[in-house]
Amino acid sequence: MGKGHQGKVAVITGAATGIGQHYAKRLAEEGVDIAIADISDAAETVGLVTDARRIGRGYECDVTSPDSIAEMAGAVHADFGRCDILINNAGIYPNVPFEDISFEDWRRVMSLNLDSLFLTAKAFVPGMKERGWGRVVNVSSSTLATPVTGYVHYVASKGGVVGFTRSLASDLAPHGITVNAISPSLVPTTGTRETEPRSEERFEMVANMQAIKKIQQPDDVVGTMAFLTSEDATFVTGQTIYVDGGWVRA
Ligand code: NAD
Repeated sequence: MGKGHQGKVAVITGAATGIGQHYAKRLAEEGVDIAIADISDAAETVGLVTDARRIGRGYECDVTSPDSIAEMAGAVHADFGRCDILINNAGIYPNVPFEDISFEDWRRVMSLNLDSLFLTAKAFVPGMKERGWGRVVNVSSSTLATPVTGYVHYVASKGGVVGFTRSLASDLAPHGITVNAISPSLVPTTGTRETEPRSEERFEMVANMQAIKKIQQPDDVVGTMAFLTSEDATFVTGQTIYVDGGWVRA
């Protein structure tokens, strides 16, 4: 069991499916109650949390909308009374050549992958400050440091996630709140299977570029998330941890 996890409340965006669902399951197993903020139905994830004997609730929320985030945050506070751990996981990664990316495409990726982090932090950090304890974990991507193509808007947004993480860590450190990020490699999920061109071939190709030549699975990421949200990580902040089998070796 993660040190300091018991009885905490986590809000995880985009946890109805994909890697976020695995974060929810793992933290519930560590003793954390889970609020899932997602545009999709979170019933399956709620079931996994309940199986782990913790409280799980789904909140229909579009993280591109300030109003939707405010409404979700109000409901979380009413239901749980607090948010100790904020995991900004919702993200999209459309693969489009630079010349075909419209400004609307660019703005949507920025809004979902980066602006939403600002909005959720605005909603939940004040309560963390009051209690003098908090964990914010954002999700970046190893594509930031690798030669992928067709992801100009995505990689730019994930670079923003790293900058946001470093900077917010400085502002919040005096309040007992740490802010870190995780960068996975390429993980088969509903999202990557749909959007990656020739996904099966690509999973193999990326695995072969990693030091550990195995296609990364969601469960390969969750341990680091559990650590960063625990009491053991009290002295870790402003970091982006590449949990990617050694794809990025910098
Ligand atoms: P996924 O597409 O499988 O799941 C994403 C979840 O986000 C879904 O439940 C979806 O409903 C939700 N979502 C989408 N738009 C939303 C919105 N506007 N508001 C609220 N929720 C919304 O994604 P994934 O592959 O599990 O990736 C999760 C995160 O990890 C993303 O930030 C992604 O960039 C990052 N990441 C993934 C990989 C990978 O290979 N899967 C690698 C590096 C980084």
